[in-house]
Amino acid sequence: MFFKRNRRSGSGLGFGVLLSCVVSAGAVLAGCSKQTGGTESQSAEPSEKGHAMSSHWSYQGHDGPSHWGDLDPLYELCKTGARQSPIDIIGAARNAALRPLAVDYRSTSVKVTNNGHAIQVDCDEGSVLHVEGRDFALLQFHFHSPSEHWVDGKPFAMESHFVHQDADGNLVVIGVLMVEGRENPALAKFWDYMPMLERSVDTDVTIQVSDLLPKEPRYHTYEGSLTTPPCSEDVLWFVMKTPLEVSKKQVEAFLAAIGENARPVQPRNDRVIEEY
Ligand SMILES: [Zn+2]
Repeated sequence: MFFKRNRRSGSGLGFGVLLSCVVSAGAVLAGCSKQTGGTESQSAEPSEKGHAMSSHWSYQGHDGPSHWGDLDPLYELCKTGARQSPIDIIGAARNAALRPLAVDYRSTSVKVTNNGHAIQVDCDEGSVLHVEGRDFALLQFHFHSPSEHWVDGKPFAMESHFVHQDADGNLVVIGVLMVEGRENPALAKFWDYMPMLERSVDTDVTIQVSDLLPKEPRYHTYEGSLTTPPCSEDVLWFVMKTPLEVSKKQVEAFLAAIGENARPVQPRNDRVIEEY
């Protein structure tokens, strides 16, 4: 397995050399909105296949994050996992071998889904992230507020997650932090279509997915998990260092549609965070 091999490589996360740059082109996503699973997991989560009625979970109360691991045997890693996400990013180690992400995103039509846990955008096929010579197809992107990852002890107003999967089912997620400021023009194209109830809305909007990534290519990277049940591990994370701006009004519209949907930061344990 790809990620396990990396861990044995002995050179940090082992992605070194392979990440060449390209953040430019279009963008895309295909998504998945499963009603029972959630967000990062989308249809890609093997443990959910054949389990049509995953237990309900939420971000507060008796089925909130501190209880996820007890809600369903499939969610056990949420409480027993040692490589969970999100984390507070502190004390990253610079790795001179790391390179900009090889993102090759296309434009896509936008379908916006409120899956009860997040606002997610499903898009057309064709966007790819190349990591260590492997192609990871962009499946979907979705949003959290406040941010799930913290940096130096502080959360951000929002965070978007771009979920990628290779042919063997390995997952790579790019996280983009957002601070409150000016209106985000890329979000503005489809933000008004956000469903207030659990459903999907087709739009006539087309966007360049790369417009939702910062131009500055610097990032933090570490090995973590899905941030929603079943909290599966062996997820490779790239959290971009430069936040995008989002207006207070845009954050409020998101919270009105879905409410706060951030899992608390998890113990880092013995993991190394590397930075480019
Ligand atoms: Zn997410």
